[in-house]
Amino acid sequence: MKSIADIFPLLERPAAVVITMHQKPDADAMGSSLALKGYLEKLGHTVTVVSPTNWANWLNWMPGVATVLNYDKEKEKAQAALATAGYLFCLDFNIFHRTKNFAQDLYNATCKKVLIDHHQEPDVHSFDFGISNVKKSSTCEMIYDFIVAAGHMELLDTDISSCLYAGVVADTGSFRFEATTPGVHRMVANLMEKGINHPKIFSQLYDNFLENRLRFMGNMFSHRLEFFYEYNTALIVIPKYDLLKYEIKTGDTEGLVNFPLSVQGIKLAAIVIDREEERKWSFRSKDTFDCNSFARKYFNGGGHFNASGGGTKDSLQETVEKFRNALKENKDLLQ
Ligand code: 5GP
Ligand code: MN
Repeated sequence: MKSIADIFPLLERPAAVVITMHQKPDADAMGSSLALKGYLEKLGHTVTVVSPTNWANWLNWMPGVATVLNYDKEKEKAQAALATAGYLFCLDFNIFHRTKNFAQDLYNATCKKVLIDHHQEPDVHSFDFGISNVKKSSTCEMIYDFIVAAGHMELLDTDISSCLYAGVVADTGSFRFEATTPGVHRMVANLMEKGINHPKIFSQLYDNFLENRLRFMGNMFSHRLEFFYEYNTALIVIPKYDLLKYEIKTGDTEGLVNFPLSVQGIKLAAIVIDREEERKWSFRSKDTFDCNSFARKYFNGGGHFNASGGGTKDSLQETVEKFRNALKENKDLLQ
């Protein structure tokens, strides 16, 4: 994989570009993709953004989101765009299989492939150009760096800046995680000077749910949350029944895994959700417990040191059993 800077001269000539992100995109994946689209269009490129799947409603305020293709629903359009593309940008994921059904098309594509991402252990052999930096707060920060390094700071407008801000807020846990460096705050200062409405962006991301989600959470805290103090761990298990009863949609469960970390002494919080396609895991940790390795070792997943996810075809009962056994194996690391 060549350095990301090597792509700058190539982008001087207008081309067809496809941008994609991980499945079930969050604010960082969608925000970085739309920000890059806004920027590349200013350079004269023709840009198609493809999400591998649907996404949460609370991303629908983002400028440009109406043009994003959902691969699950608009496969032919996405494939046509990829077939004529000169460049494919892959944002906020580290290996093609994170794009689910879109992955095979990405492997087969013959255009130049570019990675911009902050997850651990990227599959660098799949990309021609790119940058992977696990120290970065967010892919949005990396898109900002990309635009600045290209010497195009003046092309950042309010729409691009709003998308970037949203991703940084989301991935830093509103500026509380360790990756929130002085550079992140300097970037945010610059984004604010581009005229973003930051209280509104925050509200659009976090004050945009329906009553059903609160009722679901009430039930979750009362009946679905278990503490294993011996292992400084908390586990939330969500059966399919709850998803149906409370009409839970994409995005409604995001962030719930963080709540148990507010309990004294808890180092690892996990949630498993019995989704249609798989039992989906999310892990969050404090301090020294490595969620990336844990998700990789036991649940076909990965991510960051303090935040990761995974999935399995095992039944809910089986996968919870596996988790309990994994806690035993990791007892020392959880002290
Ligand atoms: P979340 O728990 O919010 O879904 O994901 C936390 C972090 O782990 C994100 O950076 C996400 O990209 C990553 N992640 C979530 N699920 C998976 C997975 O199944 N495989 C891998 N490799 N990473 C995941
Ligand atoms: Mn991210």
